Amino acid sequence: MEKEAELIQMRSYLLVSWNDTFSFLEKRKPVLKENNSFGKAFLSKKRFMNTKSSIDKNKAKDKDKAILLICDGLGDRPALDGKTPLQAADTPNIDEISKEGINGLMDVISPGIVPGSDTAHLAILGYDPYKYYPGRGVFEALGADMELRKGDVAFRANFATVDDKMRVTDRRAGRKGSKELAEALNGLDIVGVKVFLKNTTEHRCAVVMKGENLSKYVSDVDTHEEGGIVKDCKPLTLKEDEDARKTADIVNEFVRKSYEILNEHPVNEERRRRGEPPANIILLRGAGSYEEVPLMKARFGFSAACVAGASLYKGVAKYLGMDVVPVEGTTGRADTNLNNKAEETLHALKEHDFVFVHVKGTDNSGHEGDFEGKRKMISRIDKELVARIKDVDAYIVITADHSTPVSIKRHSSDPVPVVIKGAGVRKDEVNKFDEFSAASGGLGRIRGMDLVPILSDFMGYYKMYGT
Ligand code: ZN
Ligand code: ZN
Repeated sequence: MEKEAELIQMRSYLLVSWNDTFSFLEKRKPVLKENNSFGKAFLSKKRFMNTKSSIDKNKAKDKDKAILLICDGLGDRPALDGKTPLQAADTPNIDEISKEGINGLMDVISPGIVPGSDTAHLAILGYDPYKYYPGRGVFEALGADMELRKGDVAFRANFATVDDKMRVTDRRAGRKGSKELAEALNGLDIVGVKVFLKNTTEHRCAVVMKGENLSKYVSDVDTHEEGGIVKDCKPLTLKEDEDARKTADIVNEFVRKSYEILNEHPVNEERRRRGEPPANIILLRGAGSYEEVPLMKARFGFSAACVAGASLYKGVAKYLGMDVVPVEGTTGRADTNLNNKAEETLHALKEHDFVFVHVKGTDNSGHEGDFEGKRKMISRIDKELVARIKDVDAYIVITADHSTPVSIKRHSSDPVPVVIKGAGVRKDEVNKFDEFSAASGGLGRIRGMDLVPILSDFMGYYKMYGT
């Protein structure tokens, strides 16, 4: 009876406030048993309060945290039964965010401009791509954990197969055993310029050239399609530019040497014996030149982390000074492990103010024209990722880096939907996250470059213009 009375007293305390009740309850722990429903409620609430306060403790004073989820190429045009894959997907969790948040459409670079994933991500992360874009190769090399210094020139590259007339018969060769082939080419010296090569995934590589007076203004060696003859690298600048000419000569020499070394390599001899085509050349493209840029922390004030699988996005994040969180089981494809991404996002949020999460699978299905694949990927994102992060103590932003409509299998300039959920946002009437519903939302139509400034004001990292 005595215990009964005490419990009644406790319940009345609870009606006042959890915080006032804790000190009282702490002293009476013996009464609180896990097998009594009231005790269970107290203990689980206490655990919840503890998780919450561990996030709060790491948070800069009076500031909020944020998660930015970018689903690559998510935007689309009406296709099957007049619906977009996003409209057709099963997205109760994303729609809940839409319902609680402020929605809108976003022209990632500007209306009518078709964004690449690299320039699009710079814009969405608050960096004018026309000012800060260093060229794709830089992101690939950074994403592959290669070291870059000012003036270094970097490329994306592929192992490929050529015949003895330099005709490309396979642009994506050597999916297995490429590491050993890459080592055979790593660290070559060409007229005083050191060339480093690292194999990233399957046939893909990044190449970094270190030396004096190098230029990113050189053309691709890659034919971009099978059947063509390996191209000569040429200076891109119209006026005679010595640095570009020198760089082009080094690229051509590197490609020649790559053939010389790889064609005779034991790994390729073994391939031929098995009847497989040899990975006997490196094709370079997307030259970029590394420059230091003002980092996110310096520009916006918050610490940032990146949860991504594909090297491009990790590279963009590193370039801007974000911490790249390693995630197991990410592939940059539809089979990526989204549960691990959710887990790492929640973990990263404990030590960072801003976490950028990237999912690539949506873009891949767009390029393949695979409506069902895109729809399924979106439903998976909702269930395996968004469901797990939607209720954390942080602003949640969901958007895309561009549209990749399944009907045209390429990026398009169609604006993408965007939603921001969190304290203080002017909740609108939109209750479904898609390309059409978003058009009537309270955010209206913004540019990619506007997103981080809008978010940083919500988070408390505002800078006043004027007094
Ligand atoms: Zn993209
Ligand atoms: Zn794409």
